[in-house]
Amino acid sequence: MIIPKESKLTAEQLSEVKGIVEEYGCKLQTIVGHHRTIYAVLGEERKTIMVNRILGLDFIDRFDAVDSPFKLMDIHSELSYHKLKIGSVTVGEEPLIIAGHCTVDPKNPNLFIETAHAVKEAGASALRGGVWKPRTMPYSFQGEDSSIEIILEAREQTGLPIDTEVMDDHQLKVALNAKVDILQVGARNALNYSLLRKIGETTQESGTAVLLKRSIGMGPINEFIAAAEYIVAAGNADVMLCPRGTQPTIDGYRNYPDESITPILKERTWAPVIVDPSHSVGRAHYVPSAAMAAMSYGADGIVVETHINPKVGIGDDPKQAIRPDDLKQLISGINEIWEIRKNYRAQKIAVG
Ligand code: PEP
Ligand code: MN
Repeated sequence: MIIPKESKLTAEQLSEVKGIVEEYGCKLQTIVGHHRTIYAVLGEERKTIMVNRILGLDFIDRFDAVDSPFKLMDIHSELSYHKLKIGSVTVGEEPLIIAGHCTVDPKNPNLFIETAHAVKEAGASALRGGVWKPRTMPYSFQGEDSSIEIILEAREQTGLPIDTEVMDDHQLKVALNAKVDILQVGARNALNYSLLRKIGETTQESGTAVLLKRSIGMGPINEFIAAAEYIVAAGNADVMLCPRGTQPTIDGYRNYPDESITPILKERTWAPVIVDPSHSVGRAHYVPSAAMAAMSYGADGIVVETHINPKVGIGDDPKQAIRPDDLKQLISGINEIWEIRKNYRAQKIAVG
């Protein structure tokens, strides 16, 4: 990873560096960081002569070879200075609460608009709404392009940034055209490496954030981090990691709640952790405690299915969505945990 002296390389400097790394069979990837733009060397980055030639350039500050299977996502990478802003929230500085429908119902657009206002009122910082849905059965409602207009209208009316899942090139194009703020990669596609790479490539300049769910069957935590590495290595460092429960499950819950991996993710990588308690436990009445647990484990926020009237919702909403009133109460609990966490850290520092 090449770190320039100034905030970024000029076109001329970039082409000089590119020329050197390509001579050694590597590829240079520009990653626009919050702190400064960095240049990842993809390939074998420890070739001494290549490194020395780069270090010899007077506009280069450092060459950091991170000794990690995921050198960009690694906690020791220069990207640990990277800050992600979603709407008015700088992630990590206050809780990020993404709330809204599992599925947008194109036949009842007002439901989504009403939910959008209600979650804003409850204190949410961003809005979720599934335009396209990964469904177990091919005969179930799969979502449709027209719903993009509904989420755009909700964003327009509330000013909340919007999160929606994309599963293929067509959906990605439509979502990027609509300037969606957060692209969700669902549990089923968390291991779809060509989609991850495509998303990284196409979002690097649009400033679109990516919420990467943990795959249902994902075992090792590094496999999850490596999936995020695909997006960052393709150019977009605005990535958030989203544990959402795995399988096999605990009897009674939809999935095996995995919010407890949050401290491990935080130890290994700089990426924000936004937990999804809805798909983890799968029942509205278990969601608040799972969300509070996630925040206690150190999550930066949650993504929670919320509906103005769950029983008329579609997709997961009838069983999983909480109501805006419950969300309001939950957010107040989350803010309390946030304060407790801050004080606890301060105390630990004082003791240590
Ligand atoms: C969703 O967020 O509605 C969803 C389908 O989630 P997951 O990909 O985690 O199953
Ligand atoms: Mn859902």
